[in-house]
Amino acid sequence: MHPLNDLTDATEEFLSAPLRLTIDLEAIAENWRMMAARSGSARTAAVVKADAYGLGIEDVGETLYGAGVRDFFVAVPSEGETLRIYAPEARIFVLSGIWPGQEATFFNNDLVPVIASEEQLAFWMATSAERGDHPCALHVDTGFNRLGLSMREAVELASDVSRPASFSPVLVMSHLACGDDPQASMNQAQLQSFQEVAAAFEGIDASLSASGGIGLGSDYHFEMTRPGIALYGGLATTNGTPASLTVAKAEARILQIREAKAGDTVSYGAACKLDRDSRLAVAAVGYADGYLRNLSGHGVALREPLPVGASGFVAGQRVPVLGRVTMDQTIFDVTDLPTDSVTAGDYIELFGPNISVNELAEAAGTISYEILTSLGLRYERRYL
Ligand SMILES: *Cc1c(COP(=O)(O)O)cnc(C)c1O
Repeated sequence: MHPLNDLTDATEEFLSAPLRLTIDLEAIAENWRMMAARSGSARTAAVVKADAYGLGIEDVGETLYGAGVRDFFVAVPSEGETLRIYAPEARIFVLSGIWPGQEATFFNNDLVPVIASEEQLAFWMATSAERGDHPCALHVDTGFNRLGLSMREAVELASDVSRPASFSPVLVMSHLACGDDPQASMNQAQLQSFQEVAAAFEGIDASLSASGGIGLGSDYHFEMTRPGIALYGGLATTNGTPASLTVAKAEARILQIREAKAGDTVSYGAACKLDRDSRLAVAAVGYADGYLRNLSGHGVALREPLPVGASGFVAGQRVPVLGRVTMDQTIFDVTDLPTDSVTAGDYIELFGPNISVNELAEAAGTISYEILTSLGLRYERRYL
């Protein structure tokens, strides 16, 4: 049995929850070890921003720390503050940098700001001079045009002899725009720019690659890699299959099985008209749970250019979503399943071992990252 399907140790609460999320922490650790092996001689950090991509920064952070991770990336200081409890000796980098008012959070929790602009640099130089030595990281933009010092600013900084002695960057980093596409010529261009940056900051560790970049080869690894999505099973290979172990299963309880007639309509807008007598399973999941409205079978404007809606998995088969996904319920077509193979109270897999999070994301016209970080608060969670 797939470990995510084993309910041996599940609590009563979990067994009766409308929505359940099972998270295999050992699989997350194994995915990190796999990324570390692929990163060659580079150190491998772990990106745990946005509550570890929706899977829980406390449990995931503790697991990865136990597996040997000593460099973490979060987006905002509050995430770093939470993580510090579970990763006492690790370096925790904060990607959004430091802002006035956040000094106490940074210094009390020993967080490392990632400085990404001249304004932040000036603020940090003044702050760190007052405080004495405290590490920082520098983000340099090599073509993404999101965060980072420009190449010129970075190279000038590297050779600026007047910078204060208390200013001590421990990492210089950049981010690839097309790391998930080995064919993109942008990768080579960003690599060349970043090689210049790394040379200008000789002696300081450099980091360019997230999950996708790790697969582009050892030139892209520098001293540190920064995988996120690959740890959570959401990195896809070119044919769409998961590139790492599946780590989570999301399920919804079926609240009702209904019989409907050919010609009846289903869900809001009466946009789905049945062309046969049908059996419908109404499941306790909706867009408030990150089961995006774009997963609808019919009747959603953005849905129309996409070929089909999402499928769930129940009684050993895939079953399609019918009509519009609503806030709290979604309707699946179980007509093709043997009668009695699915009843009210059963659980339907939304993503997991049978339907990858990538596949679900694709059905919604989005990416696994968005599915995972949208899960919402109603899932009863169980960690293996
Ligand atoms: C989110 C993020 C990562 C991790 O990216 P994945 O594609 O999830 O591996 C790494 N670096 C930066 C700067 C990021 O914003």
